Amino acid sequence: MSSPSVSQAGKQLVIGVDLDGVCADFYSRIREIAAEWFERPIEDLSQDVSYALGEWGLEPGEYDSLHRFAVTERDLFRTVPMIPGARRVLRKLSNEGYRIRIITHRLFIRYFHELAVSQTIHWLDHHGIPYWDLCFMKEKSQVGADIYVEDSPDNVASLRASGNFTICFGNTTNKHIEGPRATTWDEVYDRIKTRPGHEAQMTFDSI
Ligand SMILES: [Mg+2]
Repeated sequence: MSSPSVSQAGKQLVIGVDLDGVCADFYSRIREIAAEWFERPIEDLSQDVSYALGEWGLEPGEYDSLHRFAVTERDLFRTVPMIPGARRVLRKLSNEGYRIRIITHRLFIRYFHELAVSQTIHWLDHHGIPYWDLCFMKEKSQVGADIYVEDSPDNVASLRASGNFTICFGNTTNKHIEGPRATTWDEVYDRIKTRPGHEAQMTFDSI
């Protein structure tokens, strides 16, 4: 078989795609909602945030309350904007034969899972994101993808430590993370096409 989307063993290659910070512009939407929640001008909330949003003055343990308000009262996962290019590039990869597996840890706070899941599914369809699998998981390496696209610094580090090819989707929370990195979806596509072993695989597949 001559296809870049099939492994040497003839298995369809799976791309594990994170949602928040990769497909969904989580930090811009949570900033709008946080301004409401704090009753502060949005300009007061830095756009140069780290993962725990400490720049906004959130106390340890306070994020959960903001998150609950955002999902249950402001439909966070239904109203978050799509990061440009996600639909187009994922559709292109899907059409090339890669299997798109969405992997998200959106169920990390208890008791409003139905809202979180239903908003997520609605959002994926509304934005035309192609996918066959939808995993709500903390341990992303357990879903067995061949290529990961992820923005959380801890997740990138742990995926790479367990030997997974992981593209770090760049934002202010992960500036310190080494490559391979991408700041646009077109760059994600290029990183997938130039990843180690890709040429050898294509050569093998072409034999
Ligand atoms: Mg993320």
